Amino acid sequence: MAETIPHWLTKQAFLSPNQPAIELVDGTVITFHELKEKSQAFAKRLATLGIQKGNHIGVLSNNNLDMIIAVHALSYLGAVIVLLNTRLTTEEINYQLDDAEVRVVLAADDLIQKANELSIDFVRSFSEVGKEAKQDTQLVSEINLDDPFTIIYTSGTTGFPKGVVHTYGNHWWSAIGSALNLGLSESDKWLAVLPYFHVGGFSIFIKSVIYGMPVYLVEKFDEQIVLDAIINRGVTIVSVVTVMLQRMIQSLGESRLPNHFRCMLLGGGPAPIPLLKKANERNIPVFQSFGMTETSSQIVTLSPRDAFAKVGSAGKALFPAQIKIKNSAPNEIGEILVKGPMVTNGYFNNQEANEESFQNGWLTTGDLGYIDEEGFLYVVDRRKDLIISGGENIYPSEIESVLSGYDGVKEVGVAGKPDDNWGQIPVAFIVRSNNNLQQEEIIDYAKKRLAKYKLPKEIYFVESLPRNASNKLVRSKLLELLND
Ligand code: ATP
Ligand code: MG
Repeated sequence: MAETIPHWLTKQAFLSPNQPAIELVDGTVITFHELKEKSQAFAKRLATLGIQKGNHIGVLSNNNLDMIIAVHALSYLGAVIVLLNTRLTTEEINYQLDDAEVRVVLAADDLIQKANELSIDFVRSFSEVGKEAKQDTQLVSEINLDDPFTIIYTSGTTGFPKGVVHTYGNHWWSAIGSALNLGLSESDKWLAVLPYFHVGGFSIFIKSVIYGMPVYLVEKFDEQIVLDAIINRGVTIVSVVTVMLQRMIQSLGESRLPNHFRCMLLGGGPAPIPLLKKANERNIPVFQSFGMTETSSQIVTLSPRDAFAKVGSAGKALFPAQIKIKNSAPNEIGEILVKGPMVTNGYFNNQEANEESFQNGWLTTGDLGYIDEEGFLYVVDRRKDLIISGGENIYPSEIESVLSGYDGVKEVGVAGKPDDNWGQIPVAFIVRSNNNLQQEEIIDYAKKRLAKYKLPKEIYFVESLPRNASNKLVRSKLLELLND
């Protein structure tokens, strides 16, 4: 029988009505009671528009409070939320709308023009919905954990984005797994600045409702705002990606963070080792993590306690999850497989990807890595980006990590260039922060840190690197820079 639980926002509003649910940068506080009231009112207005259980509703919004209210409201109607990345082009969003069978799009007021350009007739801004009458409809009071809650597309770093269906149970277990790992403190306040249309940002609001924990809502990343929130507003946990941490460390200078700050959760991609060292020097408790859209946020985490002994590791699988390396012994590189109740049951409308990715409950991640004797995972690289040169496997991210440690290298991407002798050779594309930077000095630096076959055989200085709407490096497009 399917598991049901009380609707999580209704329940939290009952348990801790006056506890802050969301705090804004301007000081506004919304309690769980208020969040429930606002979300239910919005749900009743959406019901007037005819939105009902099972409908696929696109949400186009940058980080803001209205978006979170809309999300909870849709869950009160049992609709499935398709979160749209606002940085995508109209064409890219249309692909996802079509693929996910979306009929209605709700948009933030400042994005209504963009929304009106989409190939969907039924588009409403949040404030337009706010003007609708409230229909006296029966709102969801129990959540069935097997029901779909969100569809979030993967970043499309290695191909076409795939629509990941998350059930309520996936989000529930993701929140529980994280709490069992990080623990919960009564004074916890989690800062949300990652995009809420990605699972990493979105999941913070689900954790908030399940834990009864306030979220500090930041609309747009600014290192000063985030540091101020940590130092002066009692924020104890922040989720970041590498560039955010980089900018915060730079701006922090020699200062240290206050003791109440207990977790800088770093995810989304590989963490360069030089950056982790800088964070260590400033006593920033960085929890590295590995996760993907498919795992409803992090599934593997490394605590700062282990960070020194396990430099470069993403950690151990969370309590309810398992990881293994396909057909490999300890310390041997292979494809990473994951399993657990936070892992999606499949992609929407994509039988091919589902058949390719799922076997006996295990999801094939497309990432290469190894697990040491103690069970710590090391993510090596994406399977599709592997370079094979003269029979040797070369991992672009290892070379990128080394080169990124050299002064004057702002960004770097490495790819395999076809070569008659070797099959492929590694070549590096570098965005300089210092225009005097020369190829020879970079190679000299790399020679001390990389085996000869891994040294980039060519270095190209470029203006920018190809990135997708999630700002991730698209290595498969690096070689195209040579044709420009
Ligand atoms: P697509 O699946 O469409 O190609 P994507 O994989 O980039 O896009 P996401 O789900 O946003 O889409 O990203 C998950 C991926 O991010 C992981 O599969 C992995 O490649 C990378 N990643 C996440 N955490 C880490 C980490 N700690 N170290 C290295 N890579 C990581
Ligand atoms: Mg992926």
